Amino acid sequence: MSEKTVRSPKPTPSPENRLDEEFWSHCADERLCFQVCASCETWRHLPRSFCAHCGSGDWIWKESSGLGRLYSWTVTHQPSLPQFLPDVPYIVAVIELNEGVRMVSHLRGVEPEKLEIDLPVTLEFERVSDAVALPMFRASLS
Ligand SMILES: [Zn+2]
Repeated sequence: MSEKTVRSPKPTPSPENRLDEEFWSHCADERLCFQVCASCETWRHLPRSFCAHCGSGDWIWKESSGLGRLYSWTVTHQPSLPQFLPDVPYIVAVIELNEGVRMVSHLRGVEPEKLEIDLPVTLEFERVSDAVALPMFRASLS
């Protein structure tokens, strides 16, 4: 791999529609917000126009507590992009927030051998630039 490749910044979100733009705009303000159906109050992620539970097209953004549990994970030893090589091994986790939505993110603050289902986690943002902050999670170990 070339030196130029190694020096490339890590990729950042590139929203392709208005709802994704709004999700990442909230993140840039270090607020993790999800859509909540205005009809049945079901939280949802990824952002989409209609509620999968009741079909309603009415919704609002609500801020998550940022508290959740480890639902599933994988430990990455061989990154798909060279920019992540300094981070290995790192944990790619499916987090289930207390509000019921699940999202994929990075999990920090725990060794891979200590991972277990339902491990409590808390949200923390990684500030990339003025316009970008990435939602990450940290293990709440007792
Ligand atoms: Zn609904």
